[in-house]
Amino acid sequence: MIPVYTPEQFITAFISRKTKKQAFEDEVLTTVKEVLENVRNNGETALKEYTLKFDGGIPEKWEVSDEERKEAWKQVPEELIEALKKAADNIQKFHSKQLQQSRMMEMTDDIISGQLFRPIDRVGVYVPGGTAVYPSSVLMNTIPAVLAGVREIVMATPARGGGSITPILSVAADIAGVHKIYKIGGSQAIAALAYGTEEIEPVDKIVGPGNAYVAAAKSLVFGDVGIEMIAGPSEVAIIADETANPKFVAADLIAQAEHDEKARAFIFSTSERLVEETLAEVKRQCAELPRKEIAQASLMNEGAAVVVRSIDEAFQLVNALAPEHLEIQVENALQYLSKVKNAGSVFIGSYTPEPVGDYFAGPNHILPTSGTARFSSGLSVDDFVKKTTFVYYSEEALRSAAPYIEKIATEEQLDGHARAVKVRLEK
Ligand code: NAD
Repeated sequence: MIPVYTPEQFITAFISRKTKKQAFEDEVLTTVKEVLENVRNNGETALKEYTLKFDGGIPEKWEVSDEERKEAWKQVPEELIEALKKAADNIQKFHSKQLQQSRMMEMTDDIISGQLFRPIDRVGVYVPGGTAVYPSSVLMNTIPAVLAGVREIVMATPARGGGSITPILSVAADIAGVHKIYKIGGSQAIAALAYGTEEIEPVDKIVGPGNAYVAAAKSLVFGDVGIEMIAGPSEVAIIADETANPKFVAADLIAQAEHDEKARAFIFSTSERLVEETLAEVKRQCAELPRKEIAQASLMNEGAAVVVRSIDEAFQLVNALAPEHLEIQVENALQYLSKVKNAGSVFIGSYTPEPVGDYFAGPNHILPTSGTARFSSGLSVDDFVKKTTFVYYSEEALRSAAPYIEKIATEEQLDGHARAVKVRLEK
């Protein structure tokens, strides 16, 4: 079911930027541009129009009330609440290590410079709610923002038919520390968060995953607000040697493929036998899967099995691919961490399948996709902080720096710049 590629064929099919598909289909971009423009110009009227059209009903109020949030707790099983609280605790612990202090460097008595770390004021967290619910996304997006000190965190998620949102999302929002929840979804939610309406205040940054309409909308509002990244389909690359267990490898490929038909799952192995056994195992395990149609389509159209000549060659391919998730299932797996150059998150050894990180371990699951791990990183506290630099010069310090500053300013033909220094030093 998973096509087999040579390393060279894999590069052409999945790594070459020349053959890379356009990020969004034209139909999606046309719809989203119209939605953004209309909500920006007509606020509530347009937000209601699109919510009715795409979500099948308009809620009485956009904001989930305190009563609804309290009621939600009664509808979620205890064990699920406990699992979410444990995961939240791990995420909190991991991300708290990312906090940084403002710093001041006294270069001399006359010169001070430094950096202020300040939280973003208002953040919007988008949580998908179309085809499935993702309480883990609520935790992963919100906890770093809370730690960074964001003053107000609002969450947007669609309410089916204009009714209520899924209770587990409301409970996860309470656990994570979301201040307000709005029953809005799709590109109209991104427009409302970016530009505001009569009822919804605009935010400064929007984070969180979503379908193509949401992702396209985020890419188009970028500049007016911040975004953390433009997420493409989810990916896993698994490097496995002859010691790997084909049952485990197959299960991990399927776990990725069941996300959606565009998800990508790749195996790179030095062992032809392992690849054969893994492919047979994938067939067997897929047959029992509730989402088997999605997984099969993904594996057939977007999956790949590559027999490599060495583990080093596997790492060369993976570093060029820069996958969102990388699993290393080889003997002494920890030793290979030093070979990783480009990857969103790495899962080491046979007993660390990706879901450990997706839900529980602590590192963030909002990760760079589509090769963007070459230049960017997963969501962290840094995404919710601005770093403002500052400098102080005394008169004496300016006098000694003046010749250098004037020289550069004159070279750039910006005499006004040179004068701003000179005028202060004239007797
Ligand atoms: P969603 O909330 O992203 O999108 C649903 C909304 O899309 C609807 O409320 C509707 O308003 C809008 N919409 C639907 N059809 C439309 C149309 N024809 N025109 C305009 N707008 C339309 O939920 P979803 O659809 O379930 O998608 C969730 C996505 O998020 C999936 O692709 C999933 O894989 C991804 N996801 C990624 C991560 C991650 O960490 N990378 C985590 C969770 C989910």
